[in-house]
Amino acid sequence: MKPLQGLAASGGIAIGRAHVLSALSVEVSHHFISPEQMEAELSRFDAAVELARTELTELKQNLSEEVPAELSAFIEVHELMLHDPIMTRSPRDLIERRRYNAAWALSTQVEQLAKQFEEMDDEYLRERSFDVRQVGERILKHLAREAGAAQPQTAPGAGDEIVIVAHDIAPADMLEFKEIHFAGFVTDLGGVTSHTAIVARSLQLPAVVACNNATHTIKQDDVLIIDGYTGKVYVNPDEATREKFVALAELERGKRAALLEIRDLPAITPAGDRIELAANIELPDDVDEALAANVDAIGLFRTEFLFMGRKLLPDEDEQFSAYARVVLAMAGKPVTIRTLDIGADKALDAAYDAYAAVAPNPALGLRAIRFCLANPEMFRTQLRAIFRASALGKVKILIPMIAHEHEIEQTLVQIERAKKELKARGEKFDPQVPVGAMIEIPAAALAINTLLPKLDFASLGTNDLIQYTLAIDRADAQVAYLYQPAHPAVMQLIEHTIKSCNLAGKPVSVCGEMAGDPLFTVQLLQMGLKSFSMHPGCILPIKSIIRATIAPPLAQTSSLASGAA
Ligand code: PEP
Ligand code: MG
Repeated sequence: MKPLQGLAASGGIAIGRAHVLSALSVEVSHHFISPEQMEAELSRFDAAVELARTELTELKQNLSEEVPAELSAFIEVHELMLHDPIMTRSPRDLIERRRYNAAWALSTQVEQLAKQFEEMDDEYLRERSFDVRQVGERILKHLAREAGAAQPQTAPGAGDEIVIVAHDIAPADMLEFKEIHFAGFVTDLGGVTSHTAIVARSLQLPAVVACNNATHTIKQDDVLIIDGYTGKVYVNPDEATREKFVALAELERGKRAALLEIRDLPAITPAGDRIELAANIELPDDVDEALAANVDAIGLFRTEFLFMGRKLLPDEDEQFSAYARVVLAMAGKPVTIRTLDIGADKALDAAYDAYAAVAPNPALGLRAIRFCLANPEMFRTQLRAIFRASALGKVKILIPMIAHEHEIEQTLVQIERAKKELKARGEKFDPQVPVGAMIEIPAAALAINTLLPKLDFASLGTNDLIQYTLAIDRADAQVAYLYQPAHPAVMQLIEHTIKSCNLAGKPVSVCGEMAGDPLFTVQLLQMGLKSFSMHPGCILPIKSIIRATIAPPLAQTSSLASGAA
């Protein structure tokens, strides 16, 4: 069988059994349970099925005379399904044998059944797939209300590697997957710098996105090989292919182990330039992986992940604990905390969510600093938490999506107010915390010299810079082939920004995915870049290139760059 082709979103080889995520509209949590939790989870499931049955019986009894006969026939079909062992016994089986939590077991069975109906020739039977999903959702709704859900446990053991196959995964849902062990991901949709792909890379999970129709082609429990380097997905591979990839995975492990030799050596070019290698993190505990790679700093803490996938926003104390955890762990090494970059594909569940639903184009809308300046109380809550953490180590504040001088000015006003509020409370903080901006909108890169006087440093967000320069939605699989980091326009903006910052004596780093891509390391060094921030998993490969690179500075080739002088 020919492999499926998608986009290589996160390197590595994964071999495992497919778990096809359901397309049910109700949120489904996926986790393993322990053998001790099994009985209680089975009872919760049975109770939810019983409640769904009662609900339908009552619904039927209360139907008025006038309702069309089709409606009661429709309810009867649902009742029949709810009594069919195929709907109720198989999930119990998955709970017992696979140790899936009840919602996961049910959604797996529902999805399988719905697909079987979808594949039938008869139109009437094909449409029954909707009924299957509706019945599944009815039970899931009751399950969500049932108390005593089992707490997540680790996977039942080696040899049970699972590869997630989904239509799409929201960045917030990826957080849930962070808690459990999966071998890799395949999605129908997505782009290589979508936040879902970014989280997959940070988890060091091989991932293929934009793999058209993966959820239709791949069946539950198919054996999959994901080649996260080429974007190929092999479904039920023959023995020869399997052996080849097992050998490749082994080779890769060997290479990684060899790279550990340079872990404690500095990133110095043969010409003697010391390069800073920093880590990008999404959640406080990611700092452990950064420390394991012996990074010089945290160059980007994407704080919005603390705000996503929850109904209530974190208060000042909760945020302080999260920032303090990272600052203390880094023990004096700098931690650059980016203020909330919410919007576009990173939506809030909380009350503000309403905006996301109506924004005509969220990537160009009330995102990041625009959102924060529109919600100053929430913004200052975050600023106060960050400043409190600055009493514990070296903290820098990074503002996302800056395009205008006045946005920096307004931000600085909020920062001064936050400091005053802390002073009034007698809290300790570092009054000299440097404030920098993400340069990720082309206008900011072009006008960098007008912004720099108000900034202490700059950080190039190449993911968004590419998106906005080329007018390509970074999460849209349809136009992913046009998302080209090496486009001359993108390269000129990056070069112009780096050279302008160097001339002005303001530190500049790259924290977009280009920083961790070995294809661009030499070019960025030639542009004069001295600081790279990336996922901890990329640090050692990039360090090995830096230590081997003799990179004469680029000639002043671009008109933009020469204009900077
Ligand atoms: C970027 O845009 O390059 C960046 C680092 O930020 P994010 O990917 O979180 O938008
Ligand atoms: Mg960005």
